[in-house]
Amino acid sequence: MKLSVRSRVHQLVLNALELDIEAASLDGKELPRSAIRIDREKELLSLALPSELAPGDHTLALSFSGKINQQGQGLFYMRYQEQGSGTKKIMLGTQFEATDARRFFPCWDEPAFRSRFQLTVVVPENWLAVSNMPIESEKKVTGGKEVRFAATPLMSSYLNVFVAGELDLIESRSGPTQIRVIATKGKAELGRYALEATTQILQHYNDYFGVPYPLPKLDQIALPGGFGGAMENWGGITYYESALLFDPKNSSAETKQNIYEVIAHEVAHMWFGDLVTMAWWDNLWLNEGFASWMGTKCTAHFNPQWEVWLRRNLPRDPTRRVGITKEQAMEGDARSTTHPIQQRIATEAEANSAFDDITYKKGQSFLRMLESFLGEDVFRDGIRRYVAAHKYSNSTTADLWNALSEASKRPVGEIAACWTKQPGFPVVKVKREADGKVRLTQERFTVNSKNAPPLEWKIPLTYSVIGQAPATLLMTSKTHILEDIPADRVLKLNVNGAGNYRVEYDEPSWNLLLQALPNLGVEDRVNLLSDSWAIVQADRAPISLYFELVEKMSASTEIAEREQIINVLDFINGLLAGNPEREKFQRYARSLLRPTFERLGWEPKEGERSTAGNLRASFINALGDLNDPEIIAGCHERFEKYLANPASLPPDLRAPVFAVVGHYADEKTWTKLHELGLKTTSIEEKQNYYNALACATEPKLVKKTLAIAVTDELPTSRAIFLVSRAARDSGHPDIAWEFAKANMKTLLGKTDAAGANRYAPSLFTFFPDKSRADELKTYANNNLPPASAPEVAKVVDEIQFRAEFKKRLASQLSDWIDHKNIAERH
Ligand SMILES: [Zn+2]
Repeated sequence: MKLSVRSRVHQLVLNALELDIEAASLDGKELPRSAIRIDREKELLSLALPSELAPGDHTLALSFSGKINQQGQGLFYMRYQEQGSGTKKIMLGTQFEATDARRFFPCWDEPAFRSRFQLTVVVPENWLAVSNMPIESEKKVTGGKEVRFAATPLMSSYLNVFVAGELDLIESRSGPTQIRVIATKGKAELGRYALEATTQILQHYNDYFGVPYPLPKLDQIALPGGFGGAMENWGGITYYESALLFDPKNSSAETKQNIYEVIAHEVAHMWFGDLVTMAWWDNLWLNEGFASWMGTKCTAHFNPQWEVWLRRNLPRDPTRRVGITKEQAMEGDARSTTHPIQQRIATEAEANSAFDDITYKKGQSFLRMLESFLGEDVFRDGIRRYVAAHKYSNSTTADLWNALSEASKRPVGEIAACWTKQPGFPVVKVKREADGKVRLTQERFTVNSKNAPPLEWKIPLTYSVIGQAPATLLMTSKTHILEDIPADRVLKLNVNGAGNYRVEYDEPSWNLLLQALPNLGVEDRVNLLSDSWAIVQADRAPISLYFELVEKMSASTEIAEREQIINVLDFINGLLAGNPEREKFQRYARSLLRPTFERLGWEPKEGERSTAGNLRASFINALGDLNDPEIIAGCHERFEKYLANPASLPPDLRAPVFAVVGHYADEKTWTKLHELGLKTTSIEEKQNYYNALACATEPKLVKKTLAIAVTDELPTSRAIFLVSRAARDSGHPDIAWEFAKANMKTLLGKTDAAGANRYAPSLFTFFPDKSRADELKTYANNNLPPASAPEVAKVVDEIQFRAEFKKRLASQLSDWIDHKNIAERH
């Protein structure tokens, strides 16, 4: 490597991990072996120099070897079944973010050290090799071919990529950019949708950012394993296969929407993250919050019918594919275990823990709130300034605020500070006073966190008096008085739910809102549902607040609204497992869901909304879990027909029908589902079958499902996820934990860097008993690295919250349902 030495040094210190350094030479002179030192703990390689190195240009050459991992850390291999033949194959891929490039080659593995990288590889002749840049030259050598890639522009080490195997591709062009979708042999054509989406998104971003995509090519690469999500390597983005490939005959609408949104997120990183990179991991939110916001904005722009902003309002459900939502981030941010968007990151292990809901989704929500406050065009101008000023270099949050302040002439840094530098968010309380005055008061909103330090925010607040145009104000103090709001007029704060705060209304205001529901848009109705559910969780009101609102709504088929309700019912149903009140609750929950499902029906109808398929799937899943006999029988019947003729079951219904069949499976059905899962070469279908296995509730079958996690049947990232799935969906988190404890070493061997700290704690999430919190603490003390501490604390808090909420809910629910029954009889 070429070094530019700035001041005299006695030694060179680089990052390296699990590499054997065989020889080192400086400016052509070999260093003695004793000069090479490895510090495994600190992941460093030091080279003691025989004499002081003078400023100027020097050349360092290292010869080294490393290992190819099974999990997605550094260079890894994946085993998969080839499309068509089902033959077992193997291929290679890399995953370097946050700090694993050092497993591939010694380097200065921190984002601020940008370099040009030029990779040469030797691979079998029939393999395709892919990296960040196009191939510069290729020649035959013994045992294969040598491929040399063109040098990259100046970039951070974690953005390097290398993928190789028996691969196919399809391609197109967008202006000067070559766009390719690359997949294992036989699957490239399934990348057609991704190719079209990428072309559309790239053009849109070229315009939005004002700086065209700078590399000659952009590859979208589908990997059949190794890791779960997607990674924005510059010019060579990697995706877990089902996040990129779409089979028009067999994939669900949910899969298609997910693919678009993931691509829009990753391509946004080509600018935000790759062209301009955060200087250190404490500013990771700059990458992730921005890419999440931009990706959703772009998806909504081209696909308004999907209601993507709205569906971000679903409460958390870690096993649903719609990804992390705004509500999920707000739930986490209300707890004592939250942290500011910008957080101190001292070590590599901490960098890997930074990839959480707060970083991604609170960042996204704050940017959305800021954009709607500053205005879309002004905001875009600020982004253009920022990209132009910092391209090919590194930046901090302050640089972004400066650019937005210049564009908007408003004190963006001041507004932003309270949202990015302090944890949590506010609730705004609405109180009607005499003379048309409305008093607004802000305080910190918390759940299960009684002694949280009080904080204040500068809130970009929106409100509307129904029938009038929405208004904006910057709430800069604890209280604010709105004048001239007549006592009989409906007042709604947080217009369209675009703001990252809760609103708590006094009784007169709330009653007016309940009466006005039919006149509110779906965005505002979903916002009321989300806020009232959060207020119940926070123990600021009993559950009747939420269910009264639900019952006042008509049985619409608007997906975001219905899914909010489904998710709450599903959460309560899970919480009440083993509780005598559960049956009564299930009957009540079914009565809330049934009317909409009867309107939707089992079969797709001509001219229905494009989201009807997703919604139908959610209803079947939910009603099945709520023990609805008609749904359970209907799923069994459709499953039998599917076995004889797969085309008889629409793709949208497959996952829910399999899940319900799996939930009530006997041994014979379990085995059938398993056989189907073993046979298919489609990653999406495989996932559907194995998810169904994880739903089985019979303890003997739960154990059989868990045992699959330590075999080679599933890609590593999915195998470990199977245990979490079973913990949640089987109703037996205890069996799942016993299994995981006994097999922890094997399971952790399949986890990537981001997952290692949270895996064991995550399996405790579904326990609603306080004693499990102590068990987790003891387990963590004896078995987990210190870097797991934040995850352990989060889960301990979650268990305590669930235990407390379960107790509270059981009696409140019983009161609410009985009160209703009495009211109905009279
Ligand atoms: Zn990202």
